[in-house]
Amino acid sequence: MSDSDELKVLNPATEEVLATVPAATAEDVDAAVVRAVRAQHGWAALAPADRARLLRRFADTVDAHLEELARLEVSEAGHTLGNARWEAGNARDLLEYAAGGIERLLGKQIPVPGGWNITFQEPLGVVGVIAPWNFPMPIAAWGSFPALAAGNAVLLKPAETTPLTALRLAELALAAGLPEHLFQVLPGHGHIAGRALVDHPDVAKIVFTGSTRTGREVMERCARLVKPVTLELGGKSPNIVFADADLSTALDPFSFLDNSGQDCCARTRILVQETALDEARDFLADALAAVVVGDPADEKTQMGPLISAAQRERVRSYVPAGAPALRGSAPDGPGFWFPPTVLVGERHDSPAAREEIFGPVAVLLPFTDERDAIRLANDTPYGLAGSVWTRDLGRALRVSGGVRAGNLSVNSHSSVRYWTPFGGYKQSGLGRELGPDALTAFTETKNVFISTEGPAQ
Ligand code: NDP
Repeated sequence: MSDSDELKVLNPATEEVLATVPAATAEDVDAAVVRAVRAQHGWAALAPADRARLLRRFADTVDAHLEELARLEVSEAGHTLGNARWEAGNARDLLEYAAGGIERLLGKQIPVPGGWNITFQEPLGVVGVIAPWNFPMPIAAWGSFPALAAGNAVLLKPAETTPLTALRLAELALAAGLPEHLFQVLPGHGHIAGRALVDHPDVAKIVFTGSTRTGREVMERCARLVKPVTLELGGKSPNIVFADADLSTALDPFSFLDNSGQDCCARTRILVQETALDEARDFLADALAAVVVGDPADEKTQMGPLISAAQRERVRSYVPAGAPALRGSAPDGPGFWFPPTVLVGERHDSPAAREEIFGPVAVLLPFTDERDAIRLANDTPYGLAGSVWTRDLGRALRVSGGVRAGNLSVNSHSSVRYWTPFGGYKQSGLGRELGPDALTAFTETKNVFISTEGPAQ
């Protein structure tokens, strides 16, 4: 754990230093909170249509800088260009969607005797967003933009390895006309700047995305102040493939290789019905061999590097030399490379089969029938995502009902849309982001009763 006063941002594909960024101290966080409190008062007082107009202008500004933002994500996070373009577009679209929610942030009128009862959704104040390095731009957006739309100010702490897209988004917000200090980015170390946000009494809510270990600490510290928290944590998601499925789509290797496997929704537990196991193994061997791993800025590249040397070591620790596995290839030389890998000799309760590896590594496990598939799918502390592949609709629905996870897809590997809710069961998290209720998560509900009883006539 470093507490240097500068963050050195590396290109993970070359190990070259891209930028050095001053690290925010606890005092910087305190000063930012004071500015944010002031900015939030003015923001919340604006007419809803004016706030919506400013966020739409912000969306247009992001749109005008889409390619620049995408290239920044490629260079600091090692994402492929195609993925990074999608991510910048996702930030833009979420701004549009959140802007549309401002005039629809409705309260309720509840029938009561002797008067009228109405509820209001009021902004919380200042919201702290702590983002990870695996999807620096979208995850920063998912926490920050609905919070802004609901009338809050946002202090965003990006991961120390990937602060650049967040810093650029804050510049674009200002250029679009958002009030100064409403959306501030505080690059810094988690145990200093992140912790200062969590502990600050004037930060009304924390949205944290990252490891279950750090998320647990964040939740414990929030509890001391009875501060609400949204947690998006780890995953170890199953890909349940019945023998009647189309194996060539069900076993798409990018279901776990996308973003080099650094994806909390990665389908890293490939559960295949035992009668199709040999065919699945042959298919995966060919598919891994065909994956193009290399320079993420090259349009033809399908998988880039891992984020850091430390992450590569962590991933490597799950794949001992000589472990029975199917393997693709990866470049030599500078860059944090790891080849696409499917472990084929694991037990269902081994660390590689149960723990989040966060790299391009999956395990292949057989199951016998529906009950066995559900049992294995649920046999981890996590419950974020998963896929079910079968042509039998009744079975697809039964299995979807049995798997305890927040984001399932049937005959698909998709997990995330900005207009549908996203979040985990069990130790994958708490609360939901995105979807129609995204703004409500950044409000308090106020109930007001108005008596209609007057003096007797
Ligand atoms: P962390 O959970 O430690 O980091 C996520 C964010 O939290 C970063 O911004 C980090 O800052 C910050 N942070 C760290 N410590 C604290 C703290 N005490 N208080 C407040 N904020 C803090 O993840 P790691 O980067 O250490 O990754 C380790 C593993 O976590 C990965 O291998 C993966 O398994 C999992 N992970 C899961 C993610 C997901 O999307 N579910 C995302 C990222 C990681 P800083 O960058 O300075 O450490």
